[in-house]
Amino acid sequence: MIVLFDLDGTLADHSYRLEHCYNADKPDWDLFEAECENDALIVPTAEVLIAFHNIGHRIWLWTGRSDAVRTATERWLSKHALPYRQLLMRPHGVSGDAADFKKRWAQDDPIPYDQILCAYDDDPTVIATLRAIGIHTYQVRKPE
Ligand SMILES: [Mg+2]
Repeated sequence: MIVLFDLDGTLADHSYRLEHCYNADKPDWDLFEAECENDALIVPTAEVLIAFHNIGHRIWLWTGRSDAVRTATERWLSKHALPYRQLLMRPHGVSGDAADFKKRWAQDDPIPYDQILCAYDDDPTVIATLRAIGIHTYQVRKPE
């Protein structure tokens, strides 16, 4: 089965980067994403991911993070030795909520919906959206 993990706020501690968006005069999403390689690993979620991997489930990562930082993201995943089969990222230049992307990826393409075991996320909107389409979704911690 497939177990889905979000990145920002779920596996990667992006809290120090949020100031570029929420406390700034003008939100700078490019800078927000460009610093992703410096994120600390959220160890409890990483341990859950590794446990699912070790009992034979397939790990798919999905994120509203733009694929403009795909290479940096892959380096970060490699640095922390996180096993995964797929990394789904928002296409650069395409706007939209992570919840909408994840719903589409799960219901239409490329995730085989009937193979999904569960998902882990930090975003209440994503969690509500995934639960509404029948995906057993765990909230990892209180949102920032
Ligand atoms: Mg998140």
